[in-house]
Order: sequence, then structure tokens, then C-alpha cells
Amino acid sequence: MNVLSHNPCNLCPRNCGVNREDREGYCHTKRGIFVSYAGLHHYEEPMICAPSGSGTIFFSGCSLRCLACQNHSVSQGAAGEELSPAALCDLFLRLQEMGACNINLVTPTHQTYWILNALKLSRDKLHIPIIWNTSGYEHADTIRALRGYVDIYLTDIKFFSPALSFLYASASDYFEKASKALEIMVSQCPVVWGDNGLIKTGVIVRHLMLPGQNEDTLQILTHLESHFSPGDFYISLMRQYTPCHKALSHPPFHRSLTELEYKKAVKWLENSSFNGYVQEKNAVGMEYVPAFTSSENGSILPQVLDR
Ligand code: SF4
Repeated sequence: MNVLSHNPCNLCPRNCGVNREDREGYCHTKRGIFVSYAGLHHYEEPMICAPSGSGTIFFSGCSLRCLACQNHSVSQGAAGEELSPAALCDLFLRLQEMGACNINLVTPTHQTYWILNALKLSRDKLHIPIIWNTSGYEHADTIRALRGYVDIYLTDIKFFSPALSFLYASASDYFEKASKALEIMVSQCPVVWGDNGLIKTGVIVRHLMLPGQNEDTLQILTHLESHFSPGDFYISLMRQYTPCHKALSHPPFHRSLTELEYKKAVKWLENSSFNGYVQEKNAVGMEYVPAFTSSENGSILPQVLDR
């Protein structure tokens, strides 16, 4: 199988099989690269975020489309500007010139085929790490194709239970695919620290705690402990769940996390063998979502933002 095929498209586990030259799949994007935000972002985990900021690029569309997506205007809407691989390469270099400590590709999976061309063009010109910032819902072979182009995987592990991932993201095979992809990420990118105190290569596993789903969080941590070694990756436990979008009519996702739910999960992480990072309470809310750009209100390139 040609894993990086966009015709028929099999870039992610949805396996839509559409011809992306002229049709959208589940991810709501046709062929090409669509960017909805580019700028220096200062709120990533401290091991990947220098004071100068992470050079963050949000891609439009998403193959997961969660109930409570804070970025739903771009992940499930039409915002974004089309860039050629050469223009995306220029954007990487512009962010590097602005002082970005890395290039942080957010939700890139469904555009992998074209983003890889930009990564190839930039290879000899970039001297900062490339981060693949993904929902975790990845084809194993797509992650294999990124070997040598990606330095840091910042991957979600969102759900353990197939019933939960079906309810929340219509993807009952989420954990099966995400855990397999994680194994390959770990084999590609052992954790190495740079002289600047930031991770140069490695894997960070993000888990966003969901209201009423403590048991699922515990099952994820238990699985990771039994299948990986403590030095394989860092865990980032996130509490920023903000009820929004379709979740507002889907209890218990219509509410925020309780203090008790949060404290239980932190305790489990502390008692595990993993090194981790726990997000502070004040990092919760929609004010941490970037102001996205659409093709109607100007070009991404001249207005890379500092936030
Ligand atoms: S990348 Fe999009 S079109 Fe391709 S399989 Fe995934 S959801 Fe379907």
C-alpha cells in the first residue's frame, strides 16, 4: 500500500479513499496546505517553549473533529489560507528569523502528503527542531514516513475506551491507532536535551483530562506504564478542558473538570514512574486560543503573530 496517497486518500485512519484532488474527506480539506494561524506562541510546555516562543503553525481541518474542539472554527470550518510547499518553507524560515525555538506543526496529519514537501525543502536551512503536534490519531505508516523530518512528537493520547472515543470523536479505534503510532514515535525520537534547556528530540504525550472520565485517564496511565519505560517520553497532563461547541449539549462534557477529578489524576501521575508536567489552573479558557485567520482577511505570510 502507498501510505502517503492522497488519491485515494489514506493519510489517516479514517481511510476515506476519496480523491483529494477534487474532494474533501472527513477532514474537510482538499489537496494542498491550508494554514489558519502562524506566529510565536508562548504557552506550550516549558521543555519546548523558550521565552522567544514556539513557531506555531495551525493547519485548517482535522481528521478527528472532537465534540469540544476549542479550535473548531478552523478544524471543522473553512478558515485558512492555501500555501504552496515553497511558501510553507518560507514561513518556517520567517519564524526561525523571528527567534522561534522550534517549528510547531499543529494538526498536520491530514495534510502530511504536502507538508512533507515543505519539510524536504527546508531541511538544510532550518536549525531548530520540527514538532509534529498531533491528535495521535495517526496511521503507523504515516509516522514511519516522517522519520528524519520530525524531531519532536507532541502527541495526544485522548481516550482509552472505544465507547468514549466513538461518542466524543466518532473514532472507536482511536486508542488502537494512537498507541501503535506512539510506539513508532518513541523508536524514532529518543529524548535528547539541547544546551538551551529545551528538548531537541523526543516525545511528549499530552492527555487532556475530560469531565467524568477519571477512569479513562487511569487506564491510559496504566497502559503507558506497562508498555513503555519511564525515559521514553514526558507526560503532559492538561486541565484546560473548556466546554464549547457541540459538547455544550452532551453531558457530562458540558461542564469543566472538578477540582477532585483534577487532583485524582495528578496523584496518579505523581505515583507513576513517568516524568511529567501538569498544567496550571490559570491556563484554562478560550483566551489561550489564537485569533485565526481566514483567506478573506489577508495573507498569513506578512502577519505572523506574537502571542
Ligand atoms: S486525511 Fe482526510 S480524506 Fe484522508 S483519510 Fe483522513 S479524514 Fe479521510
